[in-house]
Amino acid sequence: MKEYRFLAKLYGVRGSYPIAPPEGTRYGGNTTCLLTRTNNQIVIFDAGSGIVRAGQDLLPEIFKHKESSNDPFFITIMFTHTHIDHLLGFPYFAPLYIPGVHLTLIGPATMGVDFEDIMRTLVEPQYYPVNMDEFRSEQEFFNISENMVVYFNGDDPIPNFTLNGDLEKEAQLVIRNMKYYFHPKDGSYNYRIEWNGNSLVFATDIEQYVGSDQRLAAFAKNADVFIHDSQYSLEQYPKFQGYGHSSVGMACEAAKQSEVKKLLLFHHDPGNDDAALEKLEKEGKKIFPAAELASETWEWVVK
Ligand SMILES: [Zn+2]
Ligand SMILES: [Zn+2]
Repeated sequence: MKEYRFLAKLYGVRGSYPIAPPEGTRYGGNTTCLLTRTNNQIVIFDAGSGIVRAGQDLLPEIFKHKESSNDPFFITIMFTHTHIDHLLGFPYFAPLYIPGVHLTLIGPATMGVDFEDIMRTLVEPQYYPVNMDEFRSEQEFFNISENMVVYFNGDDPIPNFTLNGDLEKEAQLVIRNMKYYFHPKDGSYNYRIEWNGNSLVFATDIEQYVGSDQRLAAFAKNADVFIHDSQYSLEQYPKFQGYGHSSVGMACEAAKQSEVKKLLLFHHDPGNDDAALEKLEKEGKKIFPAAELASETWEWVVK
């Protein structure tokens, strides 16, 4: 008997590139990775360097499954976009090397290149010694589109897709998306994960609009947890305007307008140490009291 029915856990909260400062960081140095799961369904968002530890954490469960079943062990990975900080952990994701693991990989075609081709290029021999066909797991690729809803029925670990919004009545874990156009050069996807009335919105690599994006405010409405890009302080932001990231104030304003219960400030700038981040958090709390820094120790357990 597991101690949760739904779990969300952050494995990487840093933007741009991973860091390992000698004095450490309380919040974590890995780039983007969020794991969400029920007892039998696993959906990971982004394969930044944080996915390496996520993969290691899954190994005991995969080996246990293989002892008792000949069915594949299903893992779904969804991608917000294909910038390198969101992909760089992928080749080091341990389940790739295990026969009997089935990976469903869902991400955006970008600049006219299919998602599968982008991922295959990432592990071409010029960049990595093991190419996609040499991994021992099975991989299945899908291009995401704006009207695609990914959902899981009951306890079934295999994802289903719908383009017209019609869900089967057994659907329990449901993932909707909203494409965000303002991230260079081909946008990024925000995801809303819902499970039995609980909801989490994952909105990274987005730069807010003046007065806050109303489409996103509607998409994130009343979420229990809102994970929002907040790479910069107010002073840093003007230097990086147009880079596709938000300031802490923009994230807090978005949380306010969305009327979410909790905001996690996310995609920390690698140049911001713990003290700088804590200053941002303080700034943020003045606008939205339920704001806190995303950390690799964060998890949300629904029992
Ligand atoms: Zn990023
Ligand atoms: Zn990006």
